[in-house]
Amino acid sequence: MTEFNSLYCKGCWQQMRMPIFIRSPLSVPFRLIGVKPSRMHPNLCTVCELMFTKVKKKKQIDIQATVMFADLRGYTRLSERADSAGIARLLDKFYDECAPAIWKRDGIINKMIGDAVLSIFNFPLERQDHVRQAVLAAIEIQRQCGDMQSELSGLAGAEGPVKIGIGIHTGTASIGEFGTAYKDFTIIGSVVNKASRIQGAAESGEILISDDAYRSIREDYPDLEPRTYRLKGIDQPVAAYAVPS
Ligand SMILES: [Zn+2]
Repeated sequence: MTEFNSLYCKGCWQQMRMPIFIRSPLSVPFRLIGVKPSRMHPNLCTVCELMFTKVKKKKQIDIQATVMFADLRGYTRLSERADSAGIARLLDKFYDECAPAIWKRDGIINKMIGDAVLSIFNFPLERQDHVRQAVLAAIEIQRQCGDMQSELSGLAGAEGPVKIGIGIHTGTASIGEFGTAYKDFTIIGSVVNKASRIQGAAESGEILISDDAYRSIREDYPDLEPRTYRLKGIDQPVAAYAVPS
């Protein structure tokens, strides 16, 4: 990924027009004051990650974003049997494989929640086709996971296959600093909840996207048939589409 890594923080540049160097000798003065590449994305810096209010001049903002949850399946069942070191290796491998697929499409990994990766597209790196980028990242993750099937099972000492379920939704979300014990920015809103529920409805190995997400990429996949789901916490039935990987 060397050619992909930029010398300066793309987030600070897009949001504040400030060149904050994170690589090369130019980054030395910034490192001295503790500015480093972010763990959310290698082309963002810790200023973007930790100083949302300073960067945005607001505690929270509303944005258009695509949210993707990718969840490692079989983890709970596995953790009863496998040793914790094996599970840690499995989660590390999962993260290592998911991250580049997300990063190279300008998505960020906002959080790891248990055995799921929560990623955001279109913030802070803006990208008009953020839904498409999220779907392409999901396809790459599923393909890689398929290729590494025996390795993943082996890492966790699992007898059966270890698979990934992915859910994607897009819309308006609030992003910023919530609560007092915050460390970095958080995304909240019905977009996040619905993306998470859709991920829960996805079969292992499947990519399930909401109707709002499908509208943005219909031209890529004109013939997908809607499925209807009853999802916990959402009153109306939800239409979703399985994207082939
Ligand atoms: Zn930055």
